[in-house]
Order: sequence, then structure tokens, then C-alpha cells
Amino acid sequence: EVTIRDLAKSFALDGQRLQVLRDLNLDIEAGESLAIVGASGSGKTTLLRVLAGLETADGGQVLIDGEPIQGVGTERAVIFQEPRLLPWLTVLGNVAFGLESRGVAKAEAQSRARHYIRLVGLQEFENAYPRQLSGGMAQRVGIARALTVQPEILLLDEPLGALDAMTKITMQEELARIWHDEKVTMVLVTHDLEEAIFLADRVLVLPKQRGAAPRLIDVDLPRPRDRNEPGFVAMRR
Ligand code: ATP
Repeated sequence: EVTIRDLAKSFALDGQRLQVLRDLNLDIEAGESLAIVGASGSGKTTLLRVLAGLETADGGQVLIDGEPIQGVGTERAVIFQEPRLLPWLTVLGNVAFGLESRGVAKAEAQSRARHYIRLVGLQEFENAYPRQLSGGMAQRVGIARALTVQPEILLLDEPLGALDAMTKITMQEELARIWHDEKVTMVLVTHDLEEAIFLADRVLVLPKQRGAAPRLIDVDLPRPRDRNEPGFVAMRR
């Protein structure tokens, strides 16, 4: 569970302070899927970066299960628009890298990595290098890499923004399935309202106008949560 209390964040700009987030209060339940939308410059990425611990807030608090977040924690994983894979490592190497750098033995890291590579349907490409992958495949590797460390919270910043329309639809369905199966909490920044409604239980709309209050919208659609139930994907269209 993520608790955001009176969160404020500003940046220095031309000798002034640009107040990007102010008095933001929000509870994100464990296992929930929350989308963050809003005009360009409204602070979506800033909020996600604060949640990721990549940016420090200048007021308020972010708690995870009651504990203040400290930097980049192992319970959170971030997926950016570009997966930035390590070009000298194979798919398997890239996905296992996070575990290996946390001290997990290579064999164990690779076995866990293979599980997630299979989950994103890239089992036949585990020995391929990033340059041999399409954009969608590279992003799948990015998703597998994030899941391999078994985060409680998956933070996604425009994860499908760079993909073509068809790949995007496939990947949206994939993310829905992963969210359902892995039972992670998902916080997704997106420009795409349809994607937000498809993937999220609630949508946080950050105001364009500084100082206005953000809005929280419940996506009240009857969506089967069990992928074996008929209409699991169809209902989400
Ligand atoms: P977009 O949809 O265009 O990605 P966004 O809603 O994600 O926008 P942010 O990237 O969070 O917006 O930026 C919010 C505001 O904060 C912008 O006006 C931006 O210029 C400013 N900003 C973000 N990061 C910094 C920084 N490191 N230094 C100064 N200003 C920043």
C-alpha cells in the first residue's frame, strides 16, 4: 500500500520556483492499478519519479506499507518508455542482470530470468542481442527485467509510448495479464486515455492549471479479472 501525504515538489526555473506538485494526497492499495494522466507538463513523470525514489520531494511524505520510502527500493521497479537494454548482453543476460547485481548466483538468476522471458513470450530469443529485437520485443525484455526482481510495485512511465498501434494493443493486453497474474501494484503514466481506462482501476488526472486540485476517477467497468473467464480481454476494449 502506498500512502502519499501532502506531497510537494518544485524545481528551480529561471531563478524562480516552478511548483509542479502540491498538497497531493493519495492512497494506492496493494494490487491496485492506477493510471496517471494529465496535460504535458502537469507533473506525471515527476510524481512517478518521486514514487520511484529517483527524485526527492520537497514536502510531504510517501510511505510504502507505512514506511517512508528511501531512495530506489527493491520493492519497486520502474519501466521507462525506452528500455535501455545493455547492448553487450543477450536478452537472458539483460533480464538476469538485476538479480545478479543484487548478489543472486548466476544459475539461479538465469533460471528466474527465463521464467519471466517466457511470460513475455520471448523464450525463443533469450540468446538474441538488443540490436536484433524490434521495439516491442525490446520493451518486453524491459518488462521481464522489471518483473524478475519481483517488485511489489511496478512504476511505468509511458511504457508503450514508442510503439506502433498494433504492438501497443498486444502489449496492453500483455500488461493487463501480467498485472492480473503477478498481483503487482501498478502505477502507469500515460498520454493515452483509452490505455488508462483499459489498464487501470482508478485514474488520477493531474490538473493543467497549477494549484488546481487533481481528480481521481474510478474506472467502473465490469471487467473480468480472471483471464480464463470469457471476455477477459474483450470486456476491456
Ligand atoms: P509530459 O507529459 O510532457 O511528459 P509530465 O506531465 O510528465 O509531462 P513532468 O515531466 O513531470 O511533466 O514535468 C513537469 C514540469 O516540471 C515541467 O514544467 C518540467 O519542465 C518541469 N521539470 C521536470 N523535471 C525538471 C527538472 N529536473 N528541472 C527543472 N524542471 C523540471
